[in-house]
Amino acid sequence: MKEILNGKNKLILSIPLFFLAACSTNKYAATNKVYKEQAKVFGNTLKEMPPLSQNVEMIAPDQQFFIGSVNFGIRKPNFVIIHHTAQTSTDQTIKTFTLKSTQTSAHYVVGRDGKVVHMVNDYLRANHAGVAKWGNETDLNSCSLGIELDNNGDEPYSDAQINSLISLLTTLKKKYNIPVQGFIGHSDIAPKRKIDPNKFPWKKLAEQGFGLWYDDILQIPPPEFDATVALRIIGYDISNMPAAIIAFKRHFVQTDISPVLTLSDNMILFNLYRKYM
Ligand SMILES: [Zn+2]
Repeated sequence: MKEILNGKNKLILSIPLFFLAACSTNKYAATNKVYKEQAKVFGNTLKEMPPLSQNVEMIAPDQQFFIGSVNFGIRKPNFVIIHHTAQTSTDQTIKTFTLKSTQTSAHYVVGRDGKVVHMVNDYLRANHAGVAKWGNETDLNSCSLGIELDNNGDEPYSDAQINSLISLLTTLKKKYNIPVQGFIGHSDIAPKRKIDPNKFPWKKLAEQGFGLWYDDILQIPPPEFDATVALRIIGYDISNMPAAIIAFKRHFVQTDISPVLTLSDNMILFNLYRKYM
């Protein structure tokens, strides 16, 4: 590829890409303008010296100072939350995420055809997780990236879509140093409200280093094994145990998602929770 991208060829190749970009952005020119204006406001907030909006109310203004350190970075996501859109096309989801009234968004939408639409800068907070909890983390929107897969929730995911997702995750994992156990689903963090991504190939993803999976050889847990504690250690919100069990089984069992842990479910759970410790 290196050779053909040199000189004139590079220019020729870039023309169709330019037109593609122009065509796809025209339809959303107005909402792209809104995006740019909102991003500009955040940019200005970052540049504020001193950041007056961050003054401590209970300390007198003349007792507060700002001296900029020279050592800092920008906050990075530490989780990736995977969703299914429960819609019928990427266009429908893009429309949903460009309407103010829906108040929802995700960083990326991956189509059935494998096309990836980036909708919110990775450093910004998208509205994809909603009320959620994972471990002791309660503001998942602030520490995660949201990826929506165009899928109605009851159909297989295409190879093109999963391959693009894996390419995207490979980049994100490397760029932000996201730990292997940081790749989880919406239903994992909101078990009382969400079922997405449903029937998702988590094992295939885990084989590529995105999310943990259990070993092939499993043991019967000892009598003192406490499934509630194990689910809590993995990260599940156990305030509603049937919901937590269903979410766990939707992710790791899939063949049965009843709110009861069978012996084989407990063997999977026993094997898995030790990987999270
Ligand atoms: Zn979702």
